[in-house]
Amino acid sequence: MNITPTLSFILLLVSQMSLFLNDSLAQTVTAKEPAKKIQIAWAGDGDTNILSKVVKLLSTSFQCEFSIGGRMAPLKDPSSIDEISRLSNERSPDTLFLLVLTDMPGSSFVEKAYKGYGVAVINIAASKPTKASAGSRSLEALHTERIQRESVRMVAQLLGVGICVFPRCAMSVARSEAELDEKSLNLCPPCAVKAEEALKQLGALRTPPKPPSLK
Ligand SMILES: [Zn+2]
Repeated sequence: MNITPTLSFILLLVSQMSLFLNDSLAQTVTAKEPAKKIQIAWAGDGDTNILSKVVKLLSTSFQCEFSIGGRMAPLKDPSSIDEISRLSNERSPDTLFLLVLTDMPGSSFVEKAYKGYGVAVINIAASKPTKASAGSRSLEALHTERIQRESVRMVAQLLGVGICVFPRCAMSVARSEAELDEKSLNLCPPCAVKAEEALKQLGALRTPPKPPSLK
């Protein structure tokens, strides 16, 4: 009786089994890792209601988890790399990016995404609308909308999404206040795909809700 074919069959079976085990082990490890989040927080005084509205929009625009962080100390100079580096180091390990809102009237700082540090800062005072630009709309609602759009833009920039040519996309360049307010609060489909790809690579892609089980 020739046992060689039987033996090779067994060896094949064992190798297949170990591949299967490795695979399920890898899946278990991935599932246990906490999902990386993008955290939004105020530095200094700010309206928590604005944070909730920003997080609400961001959650529909990006396939990842967002959280609202505790109030941080007021920023001295958001254009200083030392300060940005400090904010970056203070992030918790499960925080992918930190988006900081600050209200600094009189400061020339507008907004900036520091991609290498995973930190973006928006000075909301810089986008405060004038009565003339608001028209019949409420100044507060228009301002919140601008902050929401800037937040989408900053997160997309941190993810490596660049300037978009589609005028309605949040990533397009507005040449006037009127053009800015005509832009959508969201990303166009190609920019949304780029953002999703980046989140996937960074291990922060939100797992889609399970589809309803079929009976
Ligand atoms: Zn776009």
